[in-house]
Amino acid sequence: MNVEVVDAQASSFTQGDGSSNCASDVATPTDKNANKVNLLGMTRKELETYFETIGEKKFRAAQMMKWIHQLGVTDFNEMTNLAGALREKLSRVAYVAAPEVVHREYSNDGTRKWVFRVGDGAGSLVETVLIPADGRKTLCISSQVGCALDCSFCSTGKQGFQRDLLPAEIIGQLWVANQSYMEDTPVGERTRTVTNVVMMGMGEPLLNFEPVVASMQLMLDDHAYGMSKRRVTLSTSGIVPMIDKLGDVIDVALAISLHAPNDELRNELVPINKKYPLVELMAAARRYVERGAPLTDKSAQHKAVQAKMAQKAAVTLDDDQDDALEPSRKKHVTIEYVMLDGVNDQPLHAKQLIQLLNGLPSKINLIPFNPFPHAPYGRSSRNRIMAFQKALSDAGYVCTVRTTRGDDIDAACGQLVGQVADRTRRAEKWKQKIVEHQNANTSKSDPTSSQRREILRTRGS
Ligand code: SAH
Ligand code: SF4
Repeated sequence: MNVEVVDAQASSFTQGDGSSNCASDVATPTDKNANKVNLLGMTRKELETYFETIGEKKFRAAQMMKWIHQLGVTDFNEMTNLAGALREKLSRVAYVAAPEVVHREYSNDGTRKWVFRVGDGAGSLVETVLIPADGRKTLCISSQVGCALDCSFCSTGKQGFQRDLLPAEIIGQLWVANQSYMEDTPVGERTRTVTNVVMMGMGEPLLNFEPVVASMQLMLDDHAYGMSKRRVTLSTSGIVPMIDKLGDVIDVALAISLHAPNDELRNELVPINKKYPLVELMAAARRYVERGAPLTDKSAQHKAVQAKMAQKAAVTLDDDQDDALEPSRKKHVTIEYVMLDGVNDQPLHAKQLIQLLNGLPSKINLIPFNPFPHAPYGRSSRNRIMAFQKALSDAGYVCTVRTTRGDDIDAACGQLVGQVADRTRRAEKWKQKIVEHQNANTSKSDPTSSQRREILRTRGS
């Protein structure tokens, strides 16, 4: 597969000269912007307040959001419906900048990957991946640099936690991805292209709550990205109190990284389970589903008409239109389940999972394990995955198997910035473990269950 690789040094991902609005206009927060405020990550409410504090009318917020998020314009001088004096004032006190792109790869199958620098040093990098499939373009967004939770099968966890991302650094990933399709398009003809967002990149989104929620508000806001709430998914390893809090403030799709059907195994794979065990997690998932507001009659009828028209015109139905044809369809959670050879993929695990779900409105997504160097697991065989899927389907659950895309550019979700160096103690210990593992010459074959336990026990996290 051919991959186009563009390195930061070779491209012009620096402050633009205002002559165009393409990706080369992405500004880095340079000294020039010191003491100025970045408008990119502000929600509508925050922008309205901001404009009022600089003596302007609130409605400027909606105008500004359209320029930034829908048209991809970052240079105030090009915002033609703003008065000259306002443009001049904004240039003095504000700026619009996504995080700096230091590397990007575009695969021939349409997969795209960006590496952003969000601070100094090699450890301050995050990745974003765009995966096209079934007429959708799904963007996998990071919420933190590294992750503190150290799930045993996750390469992000091996890097330790560096810091939370700011709202501009989170929404900036979506802005850059859309921008990559707009580069050669005149401002007036630009349309947004990312159709779905999943918060499944680096980090635990519910441990960076406010910035993640602010970014998702922008995704849903009609003046910014106007995405359907079903097309924005937050994935969590199970921070129980924050699942409830999420339901209090925003209605987006929820995915739960379950990966094990009993506490003993989940404690090993997803250590946060020791704090929030399965009984609490499943209750929180149920509460989240139950609080989902059903479509009102009016909006259901309206959408049903639209959906029928779309069907007549043989247009592919999107998620909203599906809902319209079936307005009573219940909200559900997605259950993510990574398939680890001989660890959590046995018939007994499928049986336990069915018991655990106990009718929870859910769709199960089986994820073939993405290996990383010296991971103490192997990927379940195709037959094993199919048998697991069949057991769940036979029990009445919709169960899909995630196709692995972008393997050639290390773009699989949960595998982001796997090779990026960092300086945390956990990463150092993991590297040391790898060296010991290599010396012991056990790396040629997949580790056995006892080797795996030994690696986990001794890696010192
Ligand atoms: N922290 C959040 C979101 C980021 S991880 C969470 O855990 O849900 C996104 C998804 O990738 C999670 O379901 C995670 O369990 C999965 N994942 C992590 N490492 C993986 C690997 N090596 N192979 C397959 N999936 C993995
Ligand atoms: Fe963090 Fe999610 Fe990886 Fe676990 S799976 S270490 S929560 S990013």
